[in-house]
Amino acid sequence: MKKLAYLTLSLFSIFTFAQEVSKERVHTVLSTLASDEMKGREIGTPENEKAAQYIAKLFKENNLEYCTGKSFLVPFDYNGKKAYNVCGIKKGKTDKYLAFSGHFDHIGTSNKSGDNIYNGADDDASGITTLVGISDYFKDTTPEFSMVFMAFNGEEKGMKGSKAIAEDKNLDKIYNNLTALFNFEMVATESQFGKNALFMTGDEYSDMDELFNQYALNNLKIFPDPYASQNLFYRSDNVSFVKKKIIAHSFSSADMTKINHYHRENDDINVVDFDNLTQIINSFGKTLEKLNPDNFTPKYNDKVKFN
Ligand SMILES: [Zn+2]
Repeated sequence: MKKLAYLTLSLFSIFTFAQEVSKERVHTVLSTLASDEMKGREIGTPENEKAAQYIAKLFKENNLEYCTGKSFLVPFDYNGKKAYNVCGIKKGKTDKYLAFSGHFDHIGTSNKSGDNIYNGADDDASGITTLVGISDYFKDTTPEFSMVFMAFNGEEKGMKGSKAIAEDKNLDKIYNNLTALFNFEMVATESQFGKNALFMTGDEYSDMDELFNQYALNNLKIFPDPYASQNLFYRSDNVSFVKKKIIAHSFSSADMTKINHYHRENDDINVVDFDNLTQIINSFGKTLEKLNPDNFTPKYNDKVKFN
């Protein structure tokens, strides 16, 4: 009996599996964040804090560890009041980290009659759902890279949360070992390149996309930024980390030639392509299983400006 118990135990410890994320799970997370009860998740509102606590609960369920202190909620000062980013760690086989981020705040409500809630399903509940999905994927296994998951607050008010957490000295032990940051910003719709595809902002500044595509599985593909003239690389949360000379890009599927829900009340779950988003999350998971600190060391070139 003892022998059997030992055998069972060792089988379990050898065969720990990465877990594909279901469309139902993706739907639950995204529609909770984008629900009317969250009232558009504007920083400084109780609903913004409720969204932060919901993300913290998901991190806890996925057995993540705190990035700092005794909570997943990492406080910062916003106009003299406390606001929170949410941060969790998954320890991997090595001390080198990859970071996955998005912003959970949105722009609240308007005074209009009728639908006056900016649900922000695409912007950026979809990005948060993606990073939560990646933490789901690795819940019961140990990845090669350690991973840090960051849900930023106050993006819509000038990237306040990402600026604060990037400067938080308590996280330097992570930042000093951070190989690259993937910031997901509006990934709910099919890209102009088709399904299972994202574009990377600032692709001309590093080899991160080429390197990632070499290992990309499930037909996942990262394309160069087709809207480079809009300078999105310097206008999204990744820039707080670019300033620290950390490889940090934003990834999006938003088709700027077609989109009509940007910062409008109709950015709700009706715009979300759940099949495509679920496929992107699982393709990311599969690809990340192949990456390690030896084969994935993206570098900036001299075109990038750090300030
Ligand atoms: Zn956004």
